[in-house]
Amino acid sequence: MTLKNGNSYRESLKELNPEVFYLGKKIDDRLGYPSFLPHINSAALTYELANMPEYEELLTATSHLTGKKINRFTHIHQSTDDLVKKVKALRLLGQKTGACFQRCVGWDALNATYTVTYEIDKKNGTNYHKKFKEYLLYVQENDLMIAGAMTDPKGDRSLKPSQQKDPDLFLHVVEKNDKGIIVRGAKAHQTGIINSHELLAMPTLAMGEEDKDYALAFAIPVDTKGIIHIFGRQTNDTRRLEEGTMDKGNYKYGIVGGEALTIFNDVFVPWERVFMCGEWEWTGLFVERFASYHRQNYGGCKTGVSDVIIGSAVAAAEYNGVASASHIKDKIAEMVNMTETLYSCSIACSDQGHETDSGAYIVNPLLANVTKLNVTRYIYEICRLCHDIAGGLVATLPSEADLNNPQLKYLIEKYLKGVDNIPTENRMRIFRLIENMTGGTALVESMHGAGSPQAQKIMILKQANLKMKKKLAEDLAGIEKEK
Ligand code: SF4
Ligand code: FE
Repeated sequence: MTLKNGNSYRESLKELNPEVFYLGKKIDDRLGYPSFLPHINSAALTYELANMPEYEELLTATSHLTGKKINRFTHIHQSTDDLVKKVKALRLLGQKTGACFQRCVGWDALNATYTVTYEIDKKNGTNYHKKFKEYLLYVQENDLMIAGAMTDPKGDRSLKPSQQKDPDLFLHVVEKNDKGIIVRGAKAHQTGIINSHELLAMPTLAMGEEDKDYALAFAIPVDTKGIIHIFGRQTNDTRRLEEGTMDKGNYKYGIVGGEALTIFNDVFVPWERVFMCGEWEWTGLFVERFASYHRQNYGGCKTGVSDVIIGSAVAAAEYNGVASASHIKDKIAEMVNMTETLYSCSIACSDQGHETDSGAYIVNPLLANVTKLNVTRYIYEICRLCHDIAGGLVATLPSEADLNNPQLKYLIEKYLKGVDNIPTENRMRIFRLIENMTGGTALVESMHGAGSPQAQKIMILKQANLKMKKKLAEDLAGIEKEK
C-alpha cells in the first residue's frame, strides 16, 4: 500500500528521532509537544484527505514509475493538467487547514531535482538521474514527507559562497571518500522539517566555478547524525502552551509551517543519495526550476487561506451587525477579487506550463513569478481589509481565562456582545482567529516564502522579453532601425 493515512503518518514519524531545540531546550517528544502539534495536524491532513473518495482526484495521482496510486505530494507532474490539479489541491488544503501544510516544498524539490538531474546526465554522462529515480521510487512507495532544503543563511549578501569569511554560511562539501560526502553548513526557514521524514537539499543560488564545493543536491533522513534543528518562534507561540483553545486562534492547524534553522555539523551523505556534487553550471537552472514550482503554489495555498480570512471577515461583520452596510460589502468584494486574481495567476502559470527534457512538466516561469509577487501585495491588503471590517477588538480582546473567571464572565459576555443572537464567545473566537491568521508571522510568510519580492522581480525581468516589447513599440511608432 503506497498511501499512508493521518495515523500511519504520525506513527511513521515515531521511527525518527531528530535532534530538535525550541525555546532553549531539547525537545524529545516532538509528536506530543503542544507547540508542534498544529503543524503535525496540518501535514497529517495531506495524508488523511488523500484516502477520502471525494478528494482522490486532486490528492492522489498515478505514478509514472510504477503505475500505482500515490499521494499527489510525491508525484512528478506529467502534464499541464497535473500542474492545474496541484493548484486546486493546494487551495483545497488551504481552505481545510487555514494554514501551511508544509508538504509542497519537498514536492517542488522532487520535481526540480528530477528535471535538472536528467539534463545534467544528458550533457555530462553522469548517473544522478538514475539514482534520483530510485530515491523517488522509495519516496512514493513509502508516501514520505520531504522537507525541501534550499535557503542557505548566506552571510554577507554582497559576497559569493567561497568569498564569505566563514565558509560554512553556505552548505558545502568538506570531504569526499569512496562511500560518500561529508557536508557542513546550514539551511534556514526549513518548513515542516521536524515532522518530515527526509530532507532534500538543493543549491540556493546560481554559482560560478569557484563555488563548486557549494553546488550540492542530496537527500537524507532528518535525523541523520550531525543534524540539529532549531525551531523558530512565531507570533504568540507560547499561547500554545496555555490551557484552552480560543486564544490560540487556529488552534488545530496553526498558521505558518513550523520553520527551523537546520544545521549540518559534518553530516555524511552516501553517494547513492547525492544528486549533484560540483556541477556549478546547473545551479542557476536548479534554483529557477524550484522557485518557479514553489511560486506557482502561492496562488493555491494562500487563496485557500484567504477564503478562510474572507469567511472570518463575513462572520465578524455579521456578529458586529454591519453585514448589510455598503462599505462592508464593497470591502468583501475587494477581498474576493484579489483572492481570485491570485488563483487565476496560479492556474494560468500551470496551464501555460511545458514539458522538460525529462518528460516532467514545469510551469510558465514568468507567470509563476507574477503569481508570487502579487501574493506579497494582495495578502497584506486582504488582511488589512479584514482588520478594517472586524474592528479593534482583534487587538485588545481579553483572554479566554478572563472569560472563564466567574467574576468576569458575566461582564465580558455583557459588554462584548454584538448582535443579540450570537454568543459573545463566538464573536471572541472569530476575532482570535483573525488575530492569528492575519498576524505578523503569517504576513511575513506571504512576503518572503518562496523567495522575497526582489527575487521575483529579477526573474520577471529575465523572462519578460523586453527587447521584443520595445520592438513592438518602435515598429508602431515608425522608427526604422539601422540594419
Ligand atoms: Fe505549501 Fe503554501 Fe506552505 Fe509553501 S506556504 S509549503 S506552498 S502550504
Ligand atoms: Fe512557504
